Amino acid sequence: MNNYYPFELLPLPYEFDALEPSIDAQTMEIHHDRHLKAYVDNLNAALKDYPQYHCMSLEQLLRNLCKLPTAIQTTVKNNAGGVYNHNLYFNIMGTSNHKPMGRIKKSIEQTFGTYENFEAALKDSALKRFGSGWAWLATDSSYVLKIVSTANQDTLLNTCLRPIILIDVWEHAYYLKYKNKRAEYIDNWFNVINWEKAEANLILGL
Ligand code: MN
Repeated sequence: MNNYYPFELLPLPYEFDALEPSIDAQTMEIHHDRHLKAYVDNLNAALKDYPQYHCMSLEQLLRNLCKLPTAIQTTVKNNAGGVYNHNLYFNIMGTSNHKPMGRIKKSIEQTFGTYENFEAALKDSALKRFGSGWAWLATDSSYVLKIVSTANQDTLLNTCLRPIILIDVWEHAYYLKYKNKRAEYIDNWFNVINWEKAEANLILGL
C-alpha cells in the first residue's frame, strides 16, 4: 500500500458479491468504488499544494491534524479519516463465516462473559450512534477490550485504544438493502466479520 501522498484506492480483498446475502454486491461496489474513492481523491486534492506534508503517512496526518494549516485541517481530518476507517472496515470483513476462536474468543469472554453479550453491546453502541459514524471493538494497552463509538470519520488514532473491528453505520453502508433498518444491517454484519484478521489486530496491533 502506498501510505503517502498521492494516496491510492486499495482494491477490495474479495469480490463485491463475497459478502452476500449479508451485504449486497451493489452496496459494496458503490461503497468502495465511489465513497472510498471520493475520500482518497479529496484527500489528495487537499494536500496537492502542500508538498511539505507529502512525506507524512496517513496515520501521521491524522495524529498531527493540529499542526496542519487551518485551511486544510477539516478536509484532511474528514477525508484521511474516511480512508483510514474504510481500509480497516473492508479488511475486517470476509467469508470465513464462523464465530471467534483462540485468543480473541478468550478476550471477548473475559470482558463480556459470552459472545452473545459482546454482540449485544457492540450492536447497542452502533445503534446509539446518532447520525453518521462508527462503532468499534478496541483494545487498550493491557489487552482489555472496549466498545466505543465515533462520529463522522473520526478515528481512534488519538486515543490509547487500538482497533480490532469496526462497523460503518453511515447510511451509505446499508441503505440500499436495509433502508432505515440499521439494526438488521448490524445483525447481519456479524456474519461477515473475518475473525482471523480481528485476532491478528488484537495480537499484533495496528
Ligand atoms: Mn462508509
